Amino acid sequence: MTATDTTLTANLAKARQAMARFTSRTVPHLIAGEAVLSASGATFETLDPTTNERQAIVAAGDQAEIDRAAAAARKAFPAWKNASGAKRRAVLHAIADAIEARAEEIALVESSDSGQAIRFMAKAALRGAENFRFYADRAPEAGNGLSLPDEGHINYTLRQPIGPVGVITPWNTPFMLSTWKIAPALAAGCTVVHKPAEWSPLSAVLLAEIMDETIRKHGFPAGVVNVVHGLGESAGKALTEHPAIKAVAFVGETTTGQHIMRQGAETLKRVHFELGGKNPVIVFEDADLDRALDAVLFMIYSLNGERCTSSSRALVQRSIYDAFSAKVAERVKRLRVGHPLDPATEIGPLIHPRHAEKVLSYPALAKSEGARVACGGGRALDGAGNYVEPTLYLDAGNGMRIAQEEIFGPVLTMIPFDDEAEAIAIANDVRYGLAGYIWTRDVGRAHRVARDLEAGMIWVNSENVRHLPTPFGGVKSSGIGRDGGDYSFDFYMETKNVAVAFDTHQVPRLGV
Ligand code: NAD
Repeated sequence: MTATDTTLTANLAKARQAMARFTSRTVPHLIAGEAVLSASGATFETLDPTTNERQAIVAAGDQAEIDRAAAAARKAFPAWKNASGAKRRAVLHAIADAIEARAEEIALVESSDSGQAIRFMAKAALRGAENFRFYADRAPEAGNGLSLPDEGHINYTLRQPIGPVGVITPWNTPFMLSTWKIAPALAAGCTVVHKPAEWSPLSAVLLAEIMDETIRKHGFPAGVVNVVHGLGESAGKALTEHPAIKAVAFVGETTTGQHIMRQGAETLKRVHFELGGKNPVIVFEDADLDRALDAVLFMIYSLNGERCTSSSRALVQRSIYDAFSAKVAERVKRLRVGHPLDPATEIGPLIHPRHAEKVLSYPALAKSEGARVACGGGRALDGAGNYVEPTLYLDAGNGMRIAQEEIFGPVLTMIPFDDEAEAIAIANDVRYGLAGYIWTRDVGRAHRVARDLEAGMIWVNSENVRHLPTPFGGVKSSGIGRDGGDYSFDFYMETKNVAVAFDTHQVPRLGV
């Protein structure tokens, strides 16, 4: 047995232990501090992505559970919103401590539930703790505003938490994404109802449990955070329509965002959308091609390619296209597909058989459209899991569906271009606009292309490296609003202006 096998074996044993609470009984909601099943008795199943056998049975909430959770969040709101920023800071740091203490358990559950490789999920749990620490430290200043004096008045602004908010998250990296939304909401003074994705709901249970225990230990009532499981069209929809929920932070597909906007119209819901992407990485001939190669590979083949900021379209200058694509192909063939709990695994099974089928439907399409399948395109590792081969499409045209649609798997589409203008035109010729990556040593060109790309975030000579004070979000069909730093507080808080007279101006007089 190799060293890797030993660790896989050890991880499997530890994962079995961490998952026992989910596999041995129905996974409940957490509403007002209580673990409860659905009033209707309804449940849904989740699958083990390595076998597609049933892994957990989860309570399926609907309007009744959303009503209870929203009522609990509304009831807890005054106590939480009126706590000092310093107190909220202490609570959020304590949540981060608890996440760190349970980081291994969280990573094992996340890998088992989502199929994401453990090498990435170990970091995702710690990133979650970091999100809490970052917003903990900003909690005391969340309410700060501006001073805007006029001749006769001093105006000042205050920010106040908007109220109970709904958080709806996708299945790809659920723990990290949930903390990213919930940490700033709590720091701002909002209470939360979270509806996790139905394909990977388990790490949300750990997060909710950690937050609820910690918050109550600090003397706050139950209900500051609540989790309702269920399907999007029932629990998710009810959450977005609920009048007590003042805003919805949503991460997921563009079409779901469109539904949520319609559903929230009646209650004039404030929405924040982080949606899909078909992000270009543009490699110019003058780039540091070794670093570019590493980044191109990392940004599409890490996290199973199930990543909103993945660089799923590589636009490569024609003069280096053949040599560069040959190097990409060589590395793609060596990517290690395997069990998600194996520390050597680079690509685990995709989340769900339906998603695997979607990803596997593209090779035939690519061929029919005239692209070349240079690597992969089929199932990997014989067996029942959702393992797919990392795939590389070459000589694609930007009009092809493999260049336009978010495949959300370990699949790269490479497209040649001749000059800067053509690179920009191809990059922008999609409905999405989340991220863009530029590789060049020409400083002027880097700035020109960064300016002209239609995307919310640009990295020059880098893969996606997240710096929490910076704005995160997309344009076009990739989203509405920004997360990160103070941007998140603008979403979770209302800005109020207070105008106070110096008692010097002339008040208009009527009826004298
Ligand atoms: P999805 O839109 O299918 O589901 C996301 C969540 O929305 C789930 O919890 C689901 O139950 C819920 N939902 C579905 N229908 C709903 C409705 N009518 N009302 C309310 N809620 C509803 O997305 P997914 O397939 O889980 O995730 C993959 C997508 O997420 C990809 O498009 C990816 O790009 C995107 N994503 C974006 C970012 C970003 O920051 N931009 C980050 C991660 C993932």
